[in-house]
Amino acid sequence: MKRREFLKLAGAVSLAGCATGAPSKARVVVIGGGFGGATAAKYIRMWDPSIDVVLIERDAGFVSCPISNLVLAGYSTMGEISHGYDGLRRRGVQVVRDNVTAIDAARKSVRLGSGGEIAYERLVVSPGIDFMFGEVAGFQEAMQAGTVLHAWKAGPQTVALRAQLEAMPDGGTYVLSVPLAPYRCPPGPYERASMVAAYFKQAKPRSKVLVLDANPDVTSKAALFKAAWKDLYPGILEFRGNSKVVGVERGAVRTEFDTIHGDVLNVVPPHRAGDIAARAGLITTNNRWCDVDWRTMESKAVKGVHVLGDATLSASGMPKSGSMANNHAKIAAAAIVEQLNGRAPQPVKIINTCYSFVSQKEAIRVSSVHEWDGNTLTPVKGSGGVSAARSEPEATYAWNWARTIWADSLT
Ligand SMILES: Cc1cc2nc3c(=O)[nH]c(=O)nc-3n(C[C@H](O)[C@H](O)[C@H](O)COP(=O)(O)OP(=O)(O)OC[C@H]3O[C@@H](n4cnc5c(N)ncnc54)[C@H](O)[C@@H]3O)c2cc1C
Repeated sequence: MKRREFLKLAGAVSLAGCATGAPSKARVVVIGGGFGGATAAKYIRMWDPSIDVVLIERDAGFVSCPISNLVLAGYSTMGEISHGYDGLRRRGVQVVRDNVTAIDAARKSVRLGSGGEIAYERLVVSPGIDFMFGEVAGFQEAMQAGTVLHAWKAGPQTVALRAQLEAMPDGGTYVLSVPLAPYRCPPGPYERASMVAAYFKQAKPRSKVLVLDANPDVTSKAALFKAAWKDLYPGILEFRGNSKVVGVERGAVRTEFDTIHGDVLNVVPPHRAGDIAARAGLITTNNRWCDVDWRTMESKAVKGVHVLGDATLSASGMPKSGSMANNHAKIAAAAIVEQLNGRAPQPVKIINTCYSFVSQKEAIRVSSVHEWDGNTLTPVKGSGGVSAARSEPEATYAWNWARTIWADSLT
């Protein structure tokens, strides 16, 4: 498609053109300004400023899930995890606040909730996750009433869950349910349980954290988490595996076998690629995830569309993490720049690092390296692993990791 035709299609939407003043080579549209989309938008502009990049995000700003568990404990603030998009604007990215309601891959355009259309040469889709509410009976109604929260997308529910924990009387029970893997951030629920237990230990020592996990055991850094819980939170934190929550009712959750009462109910329902991926026919697997070519992140279902982050069908050993989404974005950005310059994309080696706090001052880590094996990305033998023990230096690294990835993705 020629530039003239793009501009015609852009129609109702006013796009001033990007900062260089030079004629643009093509327009890349990015849906979603989270870890994947923001990073892709930045890196495409950085690696080829002659490409116009339009980032479409429905929220006013970026709120980080990493560190949001610390907000629940009172060890961080919403201000610390909330960031704007001015850094991307300074790089010449056009940030449009809108909700993409449809993708027309044949016409290479996306439709906006506000009514307009924007044309693209390549499209990047990084919508994160949406929840399969039907898997937990009564969840949606209870969530709307504010009696059960997931807080698995950082934002208003993070604030609401913190308020519920603060309001809970000493001696109360906080119930956290974990869905079957795969889900966003494998160690995230266990970090959350640790943070709430740390808060209770300090502020309401007669209270309990009960983790109901649909998986048989802790799914990530299990030995390290369990050692921390035994040493730091005996009598406060209880873990139950094989306990899938299938329903919620007033003041209680239902597993397949039991009804369990709690004062604060935090249920994380199973999830899948974000709604727009489903509507655009990008989902290929189990009605949940989007399979991609790991050399370019191009969808295996829809040509010209690159899918990033949690929405993808994860390759072997690859978690759904901000660290991974940020790396996916760099694969896609490099591939798109090569493609739009008439060159063949080259496979890229990527890394993942996930830190988890187990107390205010101590953290643990898991990392892995993934390389192209001729077919997919696979973990490099002998690379990565977990920390030897929880420690204060790991907590310092964890904070530095968070600040670095926010800066790398957004400025
Ligand atoms: C409690 C918790 C702790 C975590 N801790 C860590 C950690 O320590 N380290 C780590 O690496 N990862 C962590 N994660 C995981 C990390 O947050 C996700 O893996 C990451 O956000 C995925 O990036 P993404 O780009 O796929 O999705 P997101 O970051 O969720 O971004 C998706 C964006 O797309 C937007 N969007 C969706 N649909 C549309 C549409 N139709 N139109 C416009 N905009 C749209 C959304 O508003 C959102 O801003 C944690 C997650 C949780 C829940």
